[in-house]
Amino acid sequence: DFESKRKTIQSFVRAYPDFPQPGILFRDICPILRDPAALNTVIDLFEEHVKKNHMKVDVVVGIDARGFLFGPLLAQRLGVGFVLVRKKGKLPGSCVSVAYDLEYGKAEAEVQEDAVAAGQKVLLIDDLLATGGTLFAAVELMKKLQAEVLGCLVIIELKDLNGSDKLKPHSVFSIIQY
Ligand code: AMP
Repeated sequence: DFESKRKTIQSFVRAYPDFPQPGILFRDICPILRDPAALNTVIDLFEEHVKKNHMKVDVVVGIDARGFLFGPLLAQRLGVGFVLVRKKGKLPGSCVSVAYDLEYGKAEAEVQEDAVAAGQKVLLIDDLLATGGTLFAAVELMKKLQAEVLGCLVIIELKDLNGSDKLKPHSVFSIIQY
């Protein structure tokens, strides 16, 4: 059942204090990728969420960089394509971009202009939701392409940072909450 799968995934997440800077408790999902059964379970849980909510997904959109590890696997399960939202300057051709705030400084996210067609229904995926700034930037990019955001999927949600409020009215599904 969901609870036992959730607990299994939780056992594969490690915490590193003061990484990459003092005061940050870094949640590391790398051990999930080292274990094929655990990785499969993550994708199972995402797929079950999509099916249970009758989401008609046209495209899975993954966020640079750890969204790229899980997004294509889910897209394959759903039989749809995968699109990359990358940090500025990494994607060739015409792109749309959006600036957003990080905890320290600013960043810019980009997507190829022809990656998603107007009216397509997209699901956003990343490893972790903290302040929501990163996923919010991806939502903005999808707005620019006139795509319809069905929701956001993450493995981990840091509840204290209220990222899901920032993403409203879009839903956030997380497997683990801290
Ligand atoms: P945010 O934009 O604040 O929601 O931050 C989310 C992005 O930063 C995600 O792509 C995460 O991979 C990364 N991130 C933020 N905080 C952490 C953390 N405590 N542990 C691991 N990754 C984090």
